[in-house]
Amino acid sequence: MLGNMMEGPLLISGLIEHAVATNPNSEIVSRRCETDHTGSSIHRYTMKDAAKRSKQIANALINLGAKPSDRIATLAWNNYRHFELYFGVSGIGSVLHTINPRLFPEQLVYIINHAEDRWIFVDLTFVPLLEAIQDQISGVEGFIILADANNMPDTSLKNAVCYEELIDQSSDELEWPTFDENTAAALCYTSGTTGNPKGVLYSHRSTLIHALSEISREALGISSLSCILPVVPMFHVNAWGVPYAGAMTGSKLVFPGPGMDGASLWELIDAEKPDLLLGVPTVWLMLLNHMDEIGKTLDSVKNVVVGGSAAPYSMIKKFDEDHDAFLVHAWGMTEMSPLGTSNVATAAMNNMTKEERYRLQQKQGRPVFGVQMKIVDDNGDPRPHDGIAYGRLLVRGPWIISQYYKNDDMSSFENGWLDTGDVATIDPANYLTIVDRSKDVIKSGGEWISSIDLENAAVGHPELVEACVIGVAHEKWDERPLLLAIRKPDSNVTAEDVKQFLDDKIAKFWMPDDVIFVDSLPHTATGKLLKIDLRKEYQDYLLKA
Ligand code: AMP
Repeated sequence: MLGNMMEGPLLISGLIEHAVATNPNSEIVSRRCETDHTGSSIHRYTMKDAAKRSKQIANALINLGAKPSDRIATLAWNNYRHFELYFGVSGIGSVLHTINPRLFPEQLVYIINHAEDRWIFVDLTFVPLLEAIQDQISGVEGFIILADANNMPDTSLKNAVCYEELIDQSSDELEWPTFDENTAAALCYTSGTTGNPKGVLYSHRSTLIHALSEISREALGISSLSCILPVVPMFHVNAWGVPYAGAMTGSKLVFPGPGMDGASLWELIDAEKPDLLLGVPTVWLMLLNHMDEIGKTLDSVKNVVVGGSAAPYSMIKKFDEDHDAFLVHAWGMTEMSPLGTSNVATAAMNNMTKEERYRLQQKQGRPVFGVQMKIVDDNGDPRPHDGIAYGRLLVRGPWIISQYYKNDDMSSFENGWLDTGDVATIDPANYLTIVDRSKDVIKSGGEWISSIDLENAAVGHPELVEACVIGVAHEKWDERPLLLAIRKPDSNVTAEDVKQFLDDKIAKFWMPDDVIFVDSLPHTATGKLLKIDLRKEYQDYLLKA
């Protein structure tokens, strides 16, 4: 017997409609790439303004000929115009393809052609990127520059249109269309470390229920009382869904635009007083270093959500001790919209020493409602959830990908589960610990060594800025860890010093066979260490030694 309840599609347009009806005066503050006539780069308006302009840009797109399912791309920072496009494009049934400008030019060409983007909305910063490749993306019909007439660049882009002029010419009268909630809403490509990027196509339904789960106190804790600073880019998994969650709750949103360095972030934090920050560890390292330099504290900040890479112990402690802010460690991936787990404050933590709590916060957290997870061995057999056994992490849930966009390769899917490519432990309380990427874990004499744990231990050294551990060939043990590290500018710390520092922090057999100091380390377009080339470069390092 079926229940007697109404059916109604969960659509992204419903979010902005709800926002304007319920929280029309919630503020949205953005740092732009350009300045206004007063010389300020800060722009400020309300949810009501955003809703009106979303309809204007939707009408503009309809007039340009945009149809349902057409892919319409953005190459933009976190700012109010990008926010409007989230609703304007998906609201009419077209698909918002958020392009990551940090991809290599050949990857940009690949994804724009693979997605068959019809128009690209582009921030001033990224105009040269597109100019350089426009001959190779001939399917794109036009480029809409996210600027007003005064700031229009002199560009070789064909059919370049001014965004603000387009908005001014368009009506704000629009009845959002209704369609199946499983319709595609947004497209995001993974920044694969090998091969071409793969497309992840989100639906209206998956996006809405992800946002519903995400706003819960047990996930990210977003409400109309929140003032959120998402530093995680809107071109990387939709800024972890925050624009949607912000519209759902009517929180104040503070968009940092291109200013992601410590000083620019502090300037915004000081002026707008956000209580919730979200971003990857690298960004917070820069902010924390800046705060040390200027000797101030992040008084308004209560929670800092950290994901994308593991949050080191030293960072968890520093946010707590120096800034009285709680680091919410979260884990997810592009394929998961992205949220999988969250490590929020619990009653049990109240009875822990600080040291115990920080150790627990290093874990990536428990699954948020809607996500199921398990760990399995190479044969697919379950491994115990005892917090010790390592296994391949598989997940399933209604905002997790079931196949890649226009891609027949189903090798990541196993009986309705997605193989995340991560190796993890799960403890009896259901806390996940990401041990490594499957391809990065170091297999030494039959034992597994987590490169991530070693990196975290190493960056705790006060004279190291960044650390990267790779497994390299070894005659006796098959593979041994090698530590590559960047020293602080005036540091003369030696390999022996670093090893001594690690001595009481890791198991004996984990000790890197050598420490090599480098000036820089390669990263992927989403800020993760890119180990593939390093492994090639250092493959024989220990064999030669
Ligand atoms: P992306 O799709 O670019 O967001 O990357 C997803 C991958 O980032 C995951 O599969 C993990 O390997 C890694 N990742 C995300 N969050 C964390 C975290 N909190 N700790 C460790 N690794 C993480």
